[in-house]
Amino acid sequence: MDLGLKGRKAIVCAASKGLGKGCAMSLAREGAELLILARGRDALEATAAEIRGATGARVATLACDITTAEGRAAALGAMPEPDILVNNAGGPPAGDFRDWDEAAWHGAVNANMVTPIMLMRAVVDGMMARRFGRIVNITSTSVKAPIPHLGLSNGARAGLTGFVAGLARQVVHANVTINNLLPGPFDTDRLRSTFAALARKSGESEQELFEKRKQDNPAKRYGTAAEFGEFCAFLCSAQASYYTGQNVVLDGGAYPGTL
Ligand code: NAP
Repeated sequence: MDLGLKGRKAIVCAASKGLGKGCAMSLAREGAELLILARGRDALEATAAEIRGATGARVATLACDITTAEGRAAALGAMPEPDILVNNAGGPPAGDFRDWDEAAWHGAVNANMVTPIMLMRAVVDGMMARRFGRIVNITSTSVKAPIPHLGLSNGARAGLTGFVAGLARQVVHANVTINNLLPGPFDTDRLRSTFAALARKSGESEQELFEKRKQDNPAKRYGTAAEFGEFCAFLCSAQASYYTGQNVVLDGGAYPGTL
């Protein structure tokens, strides 16, 4: 299927690794022109080269921290009129709720709620005026079923989800859609660093935790960034214009609800 994305401009945040990189690769394969960003320059440039080599797409890079106002201004300066915005940033640390002081909460809310909201605020009016916009927020299944050791994520992402539910319905008439893509367990650096933190606390080995979580999943495996990216590309497609305000769970069936 041709997703109708040839020549569309896409900002993909936090895209040097993991799920953001998967989204960038899939959008590039569909013919979109990319701005990818992350803090670390080396991995970012390596990823840009890999995407260009695999797809022939135009890929610009920006080394910045997207959770800062300066980082966001630089991203919008580098690509002022995006057709597609993939919001993403590193997730908050794992731990016990007693560990998290006010600063920790402000950090999580800034990275995983305020940052995507500020970027949406900056791009939505232009998308509406041009009669095409696709925004995908990478969140987490923690908004559907809280993960005990990821309370910062449970809280901050729920705030974003509530805001998106309202905004999505205000902009879809102008062919601007906003959806959240909710990853369950995907084999990325983030997953492994979360297991490392849990292993330090529980005394189990990181590998034991990794294997146990895998076997607990109905699919008996972790998701791949490439699978995630393909879903993102479809949500950004021309065909997905009537699909908005939704929370799309991608987790191998781990969420046990009927609906
Ligand atoms: P990852 O493999 O660790 O990749 C994170 C990417 O984000 C890297 O490119 C990193 O590059 C970039 N990044 C982090 N903080 C940034 C910042 N402040 N500004 C710009 N770029 C930043 O992580 P992932 O697994 O893809 O996770 C992506 C998101 O999905 C996270 O919020 C995570 O919590 C969430 N999630 C992941 C899973 C999973 O199983 N993997 C499940 C649920 C939710 P630099 O470090 O160089 O900036």
